[in-house]
Amino acid sequence: MENTLTLSLKQGLAEAATPLVEVGAQVKRGEVLASPSSKGVFLHASLGGRVKKVTPTALTLESEATEDTGFVPLPKTGDLVEQARLAGLVGMGGAGFPTWVKLASNLEGGTLIANAVECEPLLKHNTHQLENDPDQVRRGLLLAIQATKAKRGVIAVKKKNRAALAALAGVIREKDPLEVFTLPDLYPVGEERALVREILGILLPPDQLPLAAGAVVMNVETLASLAAAWEDGKPVISKNLTMAGKLGGNPIQVFTAVPIGTSFQTLLDKAGGPKAPNGGLLAGGPFTGSYASEESTVSKTLGGICVTQDPLRENRPLGLLVCACSASEERLRQLAASMGARVTGVRRCQQAVESRGGLKCENPGNCPGQAAKILELRREGAEALLIGNCSDCTNTVMCVAPGLKMAVHHVTDNSLRAAGKPLVRRLPALRQA
Ligand code: SF4
Repeated sequence: MENTLTLSLKQGLAEAATPLVEVGAQVKRGEVLASPSSKGVFLHASLGGRVKKVTPTALTLESEATEDTGFVPLPKTGDLVEQARLAGLVGMGGAGFPTWVKLASNLEGGTLIANAVECEPLLKHNTHQLENDPDQVRRGLLLAIQATKAKRGVIAVKKKNRAALAALAGVIREKDPLEVFTLPDLYPVGEERALVREILGILLPPDQLPLAAGAVVMNVETLASLAAAWEDGKPVISKNLTMAGKLGGNPIQVFTAVPIGTSFQTLLDKAGGPKAPNGGLLAGGPFTGSYASEESTVSKTLGGICVTQDPLRENRPLGLLVCACSASEERLRQLAASMGARVTGVRRCQQAVESRGGLKCENPGNCPGQAAKILELRREGAEALLIGNCSDCTNTVMCVAPGLKMAVHHVTDNSLRAAGKPLVRRLPALRQA
């Protein structure tokens, strides 16, 4: 059976690449399909096959293969930064910053932070990677330390992920300049500046990158892919991800080495199909994911696909409370519309400020207090709230809203209900999760 793959020319924050192939061309797995502008990354064929379509935004391949075996290797450059550039490596934790740019940083005396926190609920593929191949992550981290001249590497993992912690302890050698740092199961402890604050004790302003604190943060799948690019000459042609929610099979399933460009429909079929009725698909995690369809395809930055639950109806006037590290106001409004609710007001958490072209939190995950915003929404007529807040701020909302007889919906509710997991509400319950 033929497999159709649609590969976006724009991966993550990198600028769109320019196609090098024409319709009808036969390509081998790993062959370069598109080359970057100065800030872009290379795109490679994730399976061997025939180029079916070329548009200004994407390439479509028809392939008879489905397996992740064999590839055209990258040239061995002897230069880690160049190797990452040729491999088309971008941050695979979600943001998609070109990895070669991070590797070109000079961290002399600084810290390379490996992010395995996976702070979005339901996602498990980073933890799965640590449990099953911790040494590849270790080798990737040592390479990144070497490229940036960092003094040490710190692997950030949630304390609850005991199997991953044990797996890491089994591979880290005495001479390795590596440490493991554990964090609580709270959102958004994996945010870059939250990690820098927790690990280095430095709270960076929203407009600064970890580099300002002498740190670079890289996701563990990115580090494993760096090791593969360096040791085996493997370009980035596949992605690990988590399927979650109303699935025919297990409500949380990890898929590894999924060819870039695979359709969500193909993965849903493998996961036992979406169960009806449902509230549609989210690409990404419950907090930061965006609405998607069966025709959407896997990118180098995709972390998860969630089949959500049909939203509850809400007939009362609804106030929206927006967080910088979570769903956008646009997604909250879409969700409110699907609940049949009338939006009477919108407020941002007071720590959500405009920075670097979007909203950023001044102190991610440390609640500044939400009572004033809730009272403003109440005065405007809201009788219920739809919030996207972090764990700590949701806890505060739950200390205030019930006393005002306001019902609370959280943007993650339909994903968590679909997977049979506890809702984000009061912190004691979260800490036990
Ligand atoms: S403090 Fe406010 S903006 Fe920051 S993560 Fe929490 S809810 Fe979001």
